[in-house]
Amino acid sequence: MPHIFLYGPSGSGKSTVGKILADILNLPFLDLDVEIENSARQSIPDMMVEHGEAFFRDLETNALRSVSASCETVVSLGGGTLLRTENRVIAETIGRVILLETDLPTLVARLLRDGNQRPLLAVKLENKLAHQLKVRKAHYRSFALRVDSSPAPGQVVRDIQRLLGRYHLGSMEPGYDVIVQEGVLDQLGEMLRSRNLGGPVLVVSDTNTSPLYGDRVLGSLQAAGYTTTQLAIPAGEIHKNLETIVSLWHGCLKAGLDRKSTIVSLGGGVVGDLAGFAAATFMRGCVWVSVPTTLLAMVDASLGGKTGFDLPEGKNLVGAFHPPRLVPVDPDVLSTLPDRELRAGMAEVVKHGIIADPDLFALCTQGWDAVSSRIPEVVRRGIAVKVKIIEEDPYESGIRAALNFGHTIGHAVELVSGFNLLHGEAVAIGMVIETRLAERILETDPGLSEMLAGTLSGLGLPVEIPDNLDRADIIQSMKMDKKKTAGVVRFALPVRIGCVKVGVEVANLEETL
Ligand code: NAD
Ligand code: ZN
Repeated sequence: MPHIFLYGPSGSGKSTVGKILADILNLPFLDLDVEIENSARQSIPDMMVEHGEAFFRDLETNALRSVSASCETVVSLGGGTLLRTENRVIAETIGRVILLETDLPTLVARLLRDGNQRPLLAVKLENKLAHQLKVRKAHYRSFALRVDSSPAPGQVVRDIQRLLGRYHLGSMEPGYDVIVQEGVLDQLGEMLRSRNLGGPVLVVSDTNTSPLYGDRVLGSLQAAGYTTTQLAIPAGEIHKNLETIVSLWHGCLKAGLDRKSTIVSLGGGVVGDLAGFAAATFMRGCVWVSVPTTLLAMVDASLGGKTGFDLPEGKNLVGAFHPPRLVPVDPDVLSTLPDRELRAGMAEVVKHGIIADPDLFALCTQGWDAVSSRIPEVVRRGIAVKVKIIEEDPYESGIRAALNFGHTIGHAVELVSGFNLLHGEAVAIGMVIETRLAERILETDPGLSEMLAGTLSGLGLPVEIPDNLDRADIIQSMKMDKKKTAGVVRFALPVRIGCVKVGVEVANLEETL
């Protein structure tokens, strides 16, 4: 995996932010200046005075070269490390450079507070810094990945994660990486190897994803030395049942899997839920890696470790928490996803925006053309919301229930439609109706449901229950929903954009539709 280099002027927060980022991503951290000072046993200002800047830059080049041999690391660079072309080439070859930018007063305030005697900055701090920023302006601006580092370090870290599409979920042992990167399918074998995941590997796809991406995934795994078998299940929610699970268990046996082997799911939420459940139960649990190929699976189903299948009486009635060991996300695969499926996935993105990312919701309100031209960004932002929520509440004892917004009614509508409505389409309808309910029983902004309906319609999603669906059947189905406890159905309902109230009890379901 490429290294993560943090770059920017002194005072931009490279070290503070770098340490937090490394900690959150469960990666090693290296401060290049500290590394150089330790190995030279001399402070950088003394080195500059005694040996001159060229000497120091040579040491930087050597230190950078030695980073290339180590495993993925978060590296904080010196304020001028990449002025030397050779250094920049090294950094951009072995990693991605994030520039931290902020204004002069913030830089000065931070440096004075730190009392830090950095090179070139000891005297007349502000003037020197202003001059340096002016001289280096074009240089700093030439980096494509830039983050405003004025906010608190925790916020800067979240912004960097969103930009890189790089997350680590550590709340459920042993933790796993979520890596959003174009072309990551071809690096799968290498990624499994570097995490010591065992073979043989069973790749579970469906009849649509297998011909599109099966060979690439198998090729990558085989190139890394894995013995592989592919099993393509019939595509579609109607196959998310026990019969398919049984076929997967048999497939595991036939492929020679044991408890240390790995199942890779290559598909949407249906394939992920099924393959994950097979992994949770085969030999009392083996490893799985989730490679989501639909927008819905990327921003929702592949994250959080919920696996399971449907019964005729309702969706996801049998399941297990069994987190994957890795979630590689390749937004490029969405280019083959049917338009209707992509729009359905946007329903979950809208939901994420409403729960915790008003900026993401604002993007969704701009309509399909605006959104569809920014899908990789939508994927990265959508994932950020879900990761934040499940890290706060891994076993759904509190705030995670917010993710059920739109789903209590949505699941019932989906089921009663006989799965003619896609999951996301049913959730779109569910969100609008549940928001109307919220307007009646909570202090929810009046007009929110109308605004939401406009946004979802603008993305080509349905917002009303089709006339041919029986309301009584939908209510009956809600009563079967597994989220009810002691006979009471609990809803997650929006109060405003960015705030959802969980555990709202509704006794009389007949009044909800
Ligand atoms: P899906 O898996 O049925 O995929 C939708 C369709 O797209 C299928 O026909 C599939 O073959 C096809 N497809 C997938 N990737 C493709 C690609 N890149 N190119 C072309 N075709 C492709 O459905 P989904 O919408 O991904 O997932 C819905 C399921 O996810 C539901 O069963 C839902 O309950 C579940 N889900 C689970 C969780 C969770 O936390 N586990 C969360 C949300 C939803
Ligand atoms: Zn959903």
